[in-house]
Amino acid sequence: MAPPTMKAAICKELGKPLIIEQIPTPTPNARDLLVRVKVATVCHSDTALIDTGLGMATFPLIPGHEAISVVEDLGPDAAAHGFKKGDLVGAPAWHNICFSCRECVEIGPSFCTRKLVKGVSCEGYFAEYTLVDAATAVVVPGGAGVEDAARLSPLFCAGVTVWDALRRAQLQPGEALGVVGIGGLGEIAVRYAQALGVRVFGLDVSERQLQGVVEKGVVDGVVNVRGLAPLEVRGKVAELNGGRPLDVVVVTVGAVPAYQSALAMVRPEGRVIAVGIPEQDVPVSMALVATQALKVIGGRVPDQVDCARCVDFSFRKGIFPRVNPRQFQLEDINEMLDLMRAGKVEDGRMAIRFF
Ligand SMILES: [Zn+2]
Ligand SMILES: [Zn+2]
Repeated sequence: MAPPTMKAAICKELGKPLIIEQIPTPTPNARDLLVRVKVATVCHSDTALIDTGLGMATFPLIPGHEAISVVEDLGPDAAAHGFKKGDLVGAPAWHNICFSCRECVEIGPSFCTRKLVKGVSCEGYFAEYTLVDAATAVVVPGGAGVEDAARLSPLFCAGVTVWDALRRAQLQPGEALGVVGIGGLGEIAVRYAQALGVRVFGLDVSERQLQGVVEKGVVDGVVNVRGLAPLEVRGKVAELNGGRPLDVVVVTVGAVPAYQSALAMVRPEGRVIAVGIPEQDVPVSMALVATQALKVIGGRVPDQVDCARCVDFSFRKGIFPRVNPRQFQLEDINEMLDLMRAGKVEDGRMAIRFF
């Protein structure tokens, strides 16, 4: 039985530090799973949410959208979704999917117009307990200790996003892929792509990030794109790829030159997958898109089925995000957010260990 109250980190006002408070533990209704959070990881979008509201947050709010938790109790309709007490679960951020709006029926639950987003438009994981939608959750292989849970947690944001990007790229055997931005998302993208057997090239402005993937032996080549114009990037990549442009480029960062270089780097009918979200509009040559028949494809956070496939693939290939070894507690949340704001993320994803 969950206790009647729980500890939570609450953002009371836009841009203000989070406050740790004891509040009532939520009650699971309908399809809800009441979960005890084991590990929650801090994502760049948490700071964006707290600092800007992302145009959709209402405060007070418990942020946090990446976690691994244990099922403590089930709403009356949750067991029908295959869950039981004690299951170790993760989930994408989607909550209360309706399954009846036109987007749900025709496109998929990721675009449900009535859904909530955990830690953004409903209470998230920076608390001892929270509610998870049984229609989005995935049971992860059990027996995991807290460190295993820590490396699984970011899979449900960064991992599933790049997984879905690669799936939407429809990579064929023998194709060559470029990943622009070798941060948290890009590093997993490179490793997934290598496991899929395609040629992979990493591009970034940070020599340290590039050397990281070279040392792991997970790339066919890297290009430091700092200060290079799009056509220079195209030339450098072609040198590494037998004189050919690339078949697919996944852009994991929001920098304007990253998108401009990506369009320059692909072959006719090549695909550019947009994952990184630019803060400003990206001027691109639509003449290039039209004459070269390029495909620009948007990324998305996938549904339960694709999340389960991503977790399965990650386990089979042993691909997990890097986790900062520091043992953070919920009380450290404001320091963690400040480290994220300062870009001090080289040691891997920061994880709050609850138990
Ligand atoms: Zn995230
Ligand atoms: Zn819907």
